[in-house]
Amino acid sequence: MNRLIIVSAAENIPPVYRDTPIGLLLKYHNLNRPLDEYGKAQLLIGMCMDNRKHLRIPDNFAFIIRAGGANLRYSEFKVSYAIAVGGVKFIALIGHNQCGMANLIARKAQFIQGLVNNAGWEKELADEHFTRFAPMFEIGDEIDFVLREAKRLRLVYPKIQVAPLFYRVEDNFLYLIKEA
Ligand SMILES: [Zn+2]
Repeated sequence: MNRLIIVSAAENIPPVYRDTPIGLLLKYHNLNRPLDEYGKAQLLIGMCMDNRKHLRIPDNFAFIIRAGGANLRYSEFKVSYAIAVGGVKFIALIGHNQCGMANLIARKAQFIQGLVNNAGWEKELADEHFTRFAPMFEIGDEIDFVLREAKRLRLVYPKIQVAPLFYRVEDNFLYLIKEA
C-alpha cells in the first residue's frame, strides 16, 4: 500500500501531471470533476481487460487499449497509431490489484480445463497454448510491472509523457505509483 499515492484532492496531483490530461483523468475519475466536452482524444489509456474496472471520463477524452495486465508490449502498433495519427502526447498506464495476469501458473489447470469445457478444445492443444503464451503474458507483481512497462514505453516514445497509475478494485479509485 505504501507504494501508492492517494488522490483525494486536486493538491495530491503532482505538479508534473497537474495541468495535463493525466491530471484531468484523475480529477474526472477520483474527484468527480464535471465532464467536459472534447472534440478529440487528449491521451491514450492502457488498462487491463478485467471486467471489474470502469473509468469515469468524458466522451472523446481518450483512446483506450485494454489488454491483460495493462501490458502494451503486443499492442505497440496501436499505441503508435494513437500518437502518430491521434496526436496524443500522454499515456496513462493503469495496472490493478488482483490481476489475473499475475501468477498465471496458479490457474494453469483451470485455463486448460476451461478451454476444453467452454471452447471445445483438445486438452493437448489447450496445454500447448498455455505453455506457449503464459510466459509472454505473465506480469508478475502488478505494481512492479506497471512501473517497468511505463519505463519501457518512455524509451520507445521519448517525447510522450507516461504515467504509471493503479486501480484498486476494492474502492474503484485511481492511485499514483511512487517511482524510485
Ligand atoms: Zn488484470
